[in-house]
Amino acid sequence: MEIEIQIVRENIRKACERSGRKPEEVLLIGVSKTKPYEAIQEAYSFGIRDFGENKVQEIRDKFALLQEDSLLLKDAPSFHMIGSLQKNKVKYLPGRVKMIHSIDSLPLALEVEKEYAKKEELASVLLEVNVAKEESKSGFFLEEVEQALEECKDLPHVKLCGFMTVAPFTENPEENRVHFRALKNLLTNMQKKFPALPLKELSMGMSGDYEVAVEEGATMVRVGSFIFGARDYGNAHKS
Ligand SMILES: *Cc1c(COP(=O)(O)O)cnc(C)c1O
Repeated sequence: MEIEIQIVRENIRKACERSGRKPEEVLLIGVSKTKPYEAIQEAYSFGIRDFGENKVQEIRDKFALLQEDSLLLKDAPSFHMIGSLQKNKVKYLPGRVKMIHSIDSLPLALEVEKEYAKKEELASVLLEVNVAKEESKSGFFLEEVEQALEECKDLPHVKLCGFMTVAPFTENPEENRVHFRALKNLLTNMQKKFPALPLKELSMGMSGDYEVAVEEGATMVRVGSFIFGARDYGNAHKS
């Protein structure tokens, strides 16, 4: 795992160099979903501090282990919720996650407002955007985002930090450049339309396409299988 993390960091550095950006502008999130807590400890020992998970139950379990882990508590790692989120599970997230990347509907945003208000916490969130209008994926279409921001912008416990996308699966990451560029353009436009909002994050790029995503302006990349190895879902559903 150490060498893979080094490779990803080096590739991010080079992609930044090619596009005139600074590597510090890009947060590497290790996607540890389906992997045991020990995988988090190992990645932590190689400098990873941000972990992506897509199931609330897994965040609860791993967060509990983290609370007992004196080795990691001094400079505690953070969890990012990156998977599709059911409304009835939102209540478990306050205090456990640094950011929710997967706000894909207005009712979900309203639920986040409600549950974070109860705990008097502020939720940092990203709106998920279905950049290629794939039927299998959730998220707002690009042209729906402005309306969604309009509807969420005054929620007192929801901090709108930017956008996230899961680009289409492809063998050739260059094919996703157009989608990453479209999301960056959207961010630039929405920053102008909503100057009071703290929109600045673009969570885009995975194992197969993070370098192109960084060239196109990603501030967060979510890299799972390249760092942690292939995921084993047994014969259960994949996600
Ligand atoms: C699983 C997952 C990733 C990581 O995918 P890899 O291809 O394994 O790097 C990133 N983002 C989301 C939303 C995911 O569900």
